[in-house]
Amino acid sequence: MSFEFAPTQEQVEMLKMVRKFVKKEIIPVRAYYDEEEEFPWPVFQKMAEIGVLCMSGPESISGYPWDNLTRCLVMEELARGCGGIATTPMANILASEPIEIAGTAEQKKWWFSGLCLKGEMGAYCVTEPGAGSDVAGLSSSVRREGNHYVLNGTKCFISNGGVASKYVVLARLNKSAGAKGLTFFLVDRHWDGVSHGKKEKKMGNRASDTSEVIFTDVKVPEEYLLGEEGGGFKIAMNAFNMSRPVIGAMAVGVSQFAMETARDYARERKQFGTPIANMQAVQFMLAEMDMRIEAARLLYQKAAWMLDKGLEVVRNSALAKCFGADMAQRVTSDAVQILGGYGYTREYPLEKAMRDAKLLQIVEGTSQIQKMIIAREILK
Ligand SMILES: Cc1cc2nc3c(=O)[nH]c(=O)nc-3n(C[C@H](O)[C@H](O)[C@H](O)COP(=O)(O)OP(=O)(O)OC[C@H]3O[C@@H](n4cnc5c(N)ncnc54)[C@H](O)[C@@H]3O)c2cc1C
Repeated sequence: MSFEFAPTQEQVEMLKMVRKFVKKEIIPVRAYYDEEEEFPWPVFQKMAEIGVLCMSGPESISGYPWDNLTRCLVMEELARGCGGIATTPMANILASEPIEIAGTAEQKKWWFSGLCLKGEMGAYCVTEPGAGSDVAGLSSSVRREGNHYVLNGTKCFISNGGVASKYVVLARLNKSAGAKGLTFFLVDRHWDGVSHGKKEKKMGNRASDTSEVIFTDVKVPEEYLLGEEGGGFKIAMNAFNMSRPVIGAMAVGVSQFAMETARDYARERKQFGTPIANMQAVQFMLAEMDMRIEAARLLYQKAAWMLDKGLEVVRNSALAKCFGADMAQRVTSDAVQILGGYGYTREYPLEKAMRDAKLLQIVEGTSQIQKMIIAREILK
């Protein structure tokens, strides 16, 4: 099976539109939303209008035949504009994966007509104060009562947590069954017992909403059970396999922006009577940035392509996520270095890129967890 590098005509058209959108609607406002830590509703309203706020769901609802590679390419462009703003469509993709994997036609209609047609946000509620990397250790509980379930628990660090209309929530139905005791449920924010805790004040990605979501005796009708009782952990792991190339794509976008900013600055900035771009030490930093970015791009594109071909992708998704995230941390830091003292100030956009990039090593499984997955795959 050959891996095709050239984008299709549809992808070329889509990327042209997204680049135009980023230039007009994201770049002029990204510093404001970062500084104010405000959720950019007007940007997302426009993003919904051009159809890239929710890049999931059946074509009959979303209006576009989304595949993994195309949405990763779009995410690279959005993150090139702003890593923080791109986190919201990323969170919509992550939250939509369990529904893509296990949703019934009715559940898909409920979820995607909100996200794709009404500009609503979704949120993936897995992490808890006592359970981050160890997903199987979560303790939010659910019990069956007649024809509904009763959900209790606190989820933390939830992207879109405070702004979402719909939640996909992993909870424990069986206390003694470990990972097999976990089940996913769909929850509407307007149901009794759904509330929000604190909104996190973050190092980066400050245009995105990261909040606690609290479920107190929430009555979940049985038709909102996703997949099977006890099938939640498997769905969660498959969802991560699908969404990790998206993080790799975001890493490439943030890094591409950082490299180009440093390159343009190096051409202009003169020291010792010559542009610093003429100094080999600076040239080598730029060359290494370019090399790393291109390698990360190939990794995420291959993983996304494999997903689209229905191939086994556990290792490749972890490679794309881990290499991309670690690469972005290095590249954005080197880009700050090329700008010297100016790079360290908030006058220039690179310190923000560095702060935004850091999240990518943490969210959706830390770089350490990705290495555990890769090691397990190559040793088995
Ligand atoms: C901005 C932001 C947005 C997020 N969005 C979401 C979201 O939408 N939905 C959601 O469910 N969660 C979300 N998260 C949570 C995120 O997925 C977790 O923070 C992440 O999985 C790590 O969990 P933790 O923070 O509890 O760290 P821990 O699991 O406590 O890890 C702490 C450190 O220990 C290391 N570690 C842990 N276990 C091992 C091990 N076995 N071997 C080696 N090292 C290990 C980790 O790599 C890390 O360095 C978000 C987090 C942030 C910061």
